[in-house]
Amino acid sequence: MSYSEICPSCGLDVCNGIGGEGTPRLNKLLQHLPSSHLFYNASVIHDICYHKFKGKSGKRLADLNFLANMLLACKSLPWYKEYWFRVQAYRNYFAVKYFGDKFYYGVDKCKGRK
Ligand SMILES: [Zn+2]
Repeated sequence: MSYSEICPSCGLDVCNGIGGEGTPRLNKLLQHLPSSHLFYNASVIHDICYHKFKGKSGKRLADLNFLANMLLACKSLPWYKEYWFRVQAYRNYFAVKYFGDKFYYGVDKCKGRK
């Protein structure tokens, strides 16, 4: 799967594989998990949020938004799959909540329109 996300404000590719500090993007790691296809859109939005939002409250908002979008994606599944994928959604959420700091602060922040 090719993975490219262009910021609508500044035009930067916010997921070029390597962060501002030379760190791999968190969502690149999540991409290798079995739930990645279902949560692809949620991950794209999450990357954009990490790029656009600033400060501690910005990260909390980005992570909660990520969870909400993943849970919404689960609604498209048959009931017997939905429960399992909801568990995956919470696992991904806690992964970014507790281990996402260096990615959040390491990404190139949006500088707006040129
Ligand atoms: Zn931007």
